[in-house]
Amino acid sequence: MPTPKKDLRGGRPIWADTPRIDVKYRTRLLHEKCDVAVVGAGISGALVALALAERGHDVVIVDRSEPCRGSTLASTAMIQFELDTPLIELAAQKGATHAEHAYRRSFAAVQALGDIIARHDIKCAWKERHALYLAGNEHGWRALQDEADYRSRIGLPSSFLDKETLAATYGIARTGAILSEGAAEVNPAQLAAGCLRAAQRLGARLYSPHEIKEAQSHARGVDLITADDAIISARRAVFATGYTVIPGLPRDKFEHVSTWAIATKPLSADDFWLGRCLIWEAADPYLYLRSTWDNRILAGGEDSKLNSPERRDEATATKAQRLLAKVQELLPGRALKLDYAWAGAFADSPTGLPYIAPAPDLRHCFAVLGCGGNGITFSVIAAEVVRAWVEGKSDPDAKLFQ
Ligand SMILES: Cc1cc2nc3c(=O)[nH]c(=O)nc-3n(C[C@H](O)[C@H](O)[C@H](O)COP(=O)(O)OP(=O)(O)OC[C@H]3O[C@@H](n4cnc5c(N)ncnc54)[C@H](O)[C@@H]3O)c2cc1C
Repeated sequence: MPTPKKDLRGGRPIWADTPRIDVKYRTRLLHEKCDVAVVGAGISGALVALALAERGHDVVIVDRSEPCRGSTLASTAMIQFELDTPLIELAAQKGATHAEHAYRRSFAAVQALGDIIARHDIKCAWKERHALYLAGNEHGWRALQDEADYRSRIGLPSSFLDKETLAATYGIARTGAILSEGAAEVNPAQLAAGCLRAAQRLGARLYSPHEIKEAQSHARGVDLITADDAIISARRAVFATGYTVIPGLPRDKFEHVSTWAIATKPLSADDFWLGRCLIWEAADPYLYLRSTWDNRILAGGEDSKLNSPERRDEATATKAQRLLAKVQELLPGRALKLDYAWAGAFADSPTGLPYIAPAPDLRHCFAVLGCGGNGITFSVIAAEVVRAWVEGKSDPDAKLFQ
């Protein structure tokens, strides 16, 4: 069951130049035994491993590359409960109960991530923020007003801002927006590395570079075989391999796209908008942006169906200029200069919800794939669902993500 080799990103993400993204790992692997083996040391594998190690499970993590260097290093790491699919739309697709549970669970996941970071004192530039969702060509102000009303009816902290308030408060010229509490920004690589270190302190063992080539389930568990014929014998295994989807998952359910991101050179602290909230828009193609700990603007979007890594990377210079021009148009009066530009692979599901479920055709194995713009929020939920599965309990929302 090898995962396909996939070039997950190109260019140099801003996080590559930040400290505390390296984790110590073991290289020599012959035969390991553990309670749970976690394949993949990105943010998903790191959160899963920590959730299990915190409960005293004996965990082994294995990655075929340097830990925290997959999609996690490319992420712009806007941490939000708001899903790519608005609540109203999700309710129409999946039913109101399902949609409301998914939104409430996402809201709780952002809070839970803040708690994990505080509990383990992870230094990862975590900052709670509000989020501003601007009206655009996909959803105009009337749709956003209805969306904000629905969310507040079910207790989510969202309110509608009209055109005048938006212009007066944020200096942004759009026909309306939803302002939500309960969001955050973070350095995703420092977060993943911090979770891995915390898991190691609780006894987890991390191995790299070792590629899992095969999984053999049997009555008592599963044997994972590496490319160099080492074996990890586990009671259960979790595949947190990101957008390199393991075989057997319904691949046609995910749309694989390319996406781009930029970081400007640092600005003056006075150049920022009120509360430095996360900004995103109901538009296609969309733009989203946030600030960083060192006063840069980080922006992303311009998604395209380009699937070839070479063509994706060739497009980076053009896409970066387009993103910069869009930020400049949205936030006039600032002298923005490009400093970083990068590209990444991405997977989207029709509902915007992740895949967190037993791996098809592999007994004792679970698979985790966070889709869309909420990948990190979904990784938190995945860790909770996996922990319940390992402990033989049922997570009340598990069915939402299958
Ligand atoms: C440009 C960009 C912007 C994004 N912005 C946001 C955002 O603002 N907010 C948000 O929440 N999400 C965002 N995301 C999504 C989020 O970054 C991802 O959902 C998340 O990083 C995925 O983490 P992961 O651990 O699942 O995957 P990865 O970080 O890719 O880790 C998977 C690991 O599995 C390993 N692996 C794979 N196969 C094997 C094997 N056979 N054996 C051993 N190891 C293996 C890989 O080497 C890799 O290290 C963004 C993504 C991109 C690309």
